[in-house]
Amino acid sequence: MRILIDMDEVMADAIERFLEWYERDFGIRYTKEDLYGTKLHAIVPEEHRQVVKQYPHQKGFFKDLPLIPHSQEMIKELNDRFDVYVASAAMEFEYSLQDKYEWLDKHFPFIHWKRRILCGDKSVLKGDVLIDDHDFNLSVFNGRAIMFTATHNMHETKYERMNTWLDAEKFFDMK
Ligand SMILES: [Mg+2]
Repeated sequence: MRILIDMDEVMADAIERFLEWYERDFGIRYTKEDLYGTKLHAIVPEEHRQVVKQYPHQKGFFKDLPLIPHSQEMIKELNDRFDVYVASAAMEFEYSLQDKYEWLDKHFPFIHWKRRILCGDKSVLKGDVLIDDHDFNLSVFNGRAIMFTATHNMHETKYERMNTWLDAEKFFDMK
């Protein structure tokens, strides 16, 4: 079984970086609860919107992102049993490639480079399972689509949902 796993908001906490940089620039600390069902650029004052949208296009945005809890140990377990690939639409963000590569080396060294797909449009992906936080990736996947819970997708009901990595065992019969 080939399992494709998204990076941002599934393995790496990029929301945290948005909140951190916004506080750095504007002195206001939003919380993750503020982002339920939405994204930071949609709730900040109009005049800050473009600045926030540009954050992931800046150098260093993806560097040293915090881990999504339990992603390391559970992805390791999946990797021991199945064909695990990391699939990130990294090409959207011009400076993200090196940061993501180094981040994977640091936190997921067991995922071989041949299984790291830093790509563009995810509709080209082929596999049995995709774990991702975005409807626009899951909806074009021809396999089992599992939505990983993130602040912005709280209200989405179309997919099977993995709320935390601790749930992984029950999705893949790993007992
Ligand atoms: Mg993502």
